[in-house]
Amino acid sequence: MREERHPSLSRLTTLGIGGYAKAIFYPETVEDLQTVQERIAEAGRPYVLGRGSNTLAQDGELDLVVVKPAFAETIAASSEDDGVRVRVSASCMLPKLLAYTASHGYAGLEALAGIPGTLGGAIAMNAGSFGTEIGSLVSEVTVWQNGTLLRIPRSDLSFGYRSFRFPHQDAFFVITEALLTLGRGKAEELVSAQKAHLATKRNRQPITEKSAGCVFKNPEGCFAGKLLEEAGLKGARLGGMAFSTLHANFMINTGQGTAQEAFALIEKAKDAVYAKHGLVLTPEVRIVPCLP
Ligand SMILES: Cc1cc2nc3c(=O)[nH]c(=O)nc-3n(C[C@H](O)[C@H](O)[C@H](O)COP(=O)(O)OP(=O)(O)OC[C@H]3O[C@@H](n4cnc5c(N)ncnc54)[C@H](O)[C@@H]3O)c2cc1C
Repeated sequence: MREERHPSLSRLTTLGIGGYAKAIFYPETVEDLQTVQERIAEAGRPYVLGRGSNTLAQDGELDLVVVKPAFAETIAASSEDDGVRVRVSASCMLPKLLAYTASHGYAGLEALAGIPGTLGGAIAMNAGSFGTEIGSLVSEVTVWQNGTLLRIPRSDLSFGYRSFRFPHQDAFFVITEALLTLGRGKAEELVSAQKAHLATKRNRQPITEKSAGCVFKNPEGCFAGKLLEEAGLKGARLGGMAFSTLHANFMINTGQGTAQEAFALIEKAKDAVYAKHGLVLTPEVRIVPCLP
């Protein structure tokens, strides 16, 4: 198993900001996870990282050990009466999975086009887009926790808005794979649907900038982006961090941004939205280490 001392979180996250963890482990197998568990006991607080596309890391020296699964990116499909079962490794990147499912005529994931994370991160976040959440397609999730590999059926999983839970969940768990149930469709139509979703995102979101997607969750019944825009935050800048001029809920690192600037901008936005609308925005991005 590969490991490094003192990795930079700015290199490991799509926002491109953050300080240094104590170490990073790249487990490739369940046996490696066991070794990681033994090693982190003495090393520091663990954080499981996928592609880092929903992660905002703090600056400086962090009391953190990063566990970045490096499992083989396998995808295996089997046909059943009620659809197609697709077993996918947690390290598989969503764009790779979507390319596979569309080209094989397996339907359901099209709306998730353009989400740049791993399958593990997508499950942990219950990632969603254009009305589809990945949780709605999950039949089973395999989780490694405390030395045991648990195969958790859908009936025991709870997916909420950007949240995922299972019974007896500890703070440190690693999703190793998931079983999805997909429908059937025509490959050309599924490929076109994905392209159409991606084109819409390109027009509305700064997908080529350094960001972590939407910073805030949508409060019940409204869009955080609209609230931010109405509160005057669209394009607002602080040092190297800014709210996008294309989509106010995307905070981007314009170059030399820092986490300190990101947090200051987040607080400014929360205050402005509260003053204007009386609503409290909560972050969708995972802040690491968590703020007290
Ligand atoms: C340009 C852009 C567009 C985006 N669009 C969308 C969108 O449309 N919809 C949407 O929902 N999100 C979107 N996102 C956010 C992000 O891509 C998704 O949340 C994605 O699913 C996160 O995956 P990741 O592997 O990068 O997770 P990370 O950021 O690495 O981790 C996120 C969380 O998942 C946990 N985690 C990751 N892997 C595992 C694992 N194997 N086991 C246990 N826990 C794990 C982490 O501990 C953390 O809590 C976007 C981001 C960007 C940059």
